[in-house]
Amino acid sequence: MIERDLRETVARLHGELTRYGLVAWTAGNVSARVPGRDLMIIKPSGVDYDDLAADNMVLCDLDGVPVEGELSPSSDTAAHAYVYRAMPEVGGVVHTHSTYATAWAARGESIPCWLTAQADEFGGEIPVGPFALIGGDDIGKGIVSTLTGHRSPAVLMRNHGVFTIGRSARSAVKAAVMCEDVARTAHLARALGQPVPMAQADIDALYDRYQNVYGQRPSPPATT
Ligand SMILES: [Zn+2]
Repeated sequence: MIERDLRETVARLHGELTRYGLVAWTAGNVSARVPGRDLMIIKPSGVDYDDLAADNMVLCDLDGVPVEGELSPSSDTAAHAYVYRAMPEVGGVVHTHSTYATAWAARGESIPCWLTAQADEFGGEIPVGPFALIGGDDIGKGIVSTLTGHRSPAVLMRNHGVFTIGRSARSAVKAAVMCEDVARTAHLARALGQPVPMAQADIDALYDRYQNVYGQRPSPPATT
């Protein structure tokens, strides 16, 4: 039952990638870890976004090998699987070539923190990961080595695109959407002048508030 619900969730979350304009053709993918089992659910390879549904999501083990069904999983499955093996706290992984963020990746340039929204979600700069060819574990290793111990849930893999992680697939999708949003604004800001740096103490305060206080909680903390 959990697996069935997760298939529906992963299929539906792919609709957010198209809704926010993060993907072209069949590029981009979302996966989710099946809680308590060494399994993951990921997009099938080369299937149109309009045709994605719970039934054609691919169930794989954490080596990226399909355990049922006929369809081949996304060509990025090895990278997702590597992240789940190396980062037990991660419940969802997303990959896109979203335009503005990938333009920063093409230059091998991290996105400096010039916006409060970036401080909130990413806690500072959005880092660049190494260049890595698809196939094997190189992309996964690059994601894990860059994001381990880093506040940012997004990495710009050099000359390639964005990978994001989250406690759930939904939070990884949110990070992918926010990454493109701040990448676009940072691009425009720098194109038109010199963006004003933010003080590290302000970035820290924003990150702490957003991560620990912001949002709807079952029992909200006392307000002062
Ligand atoms: Zn890619």
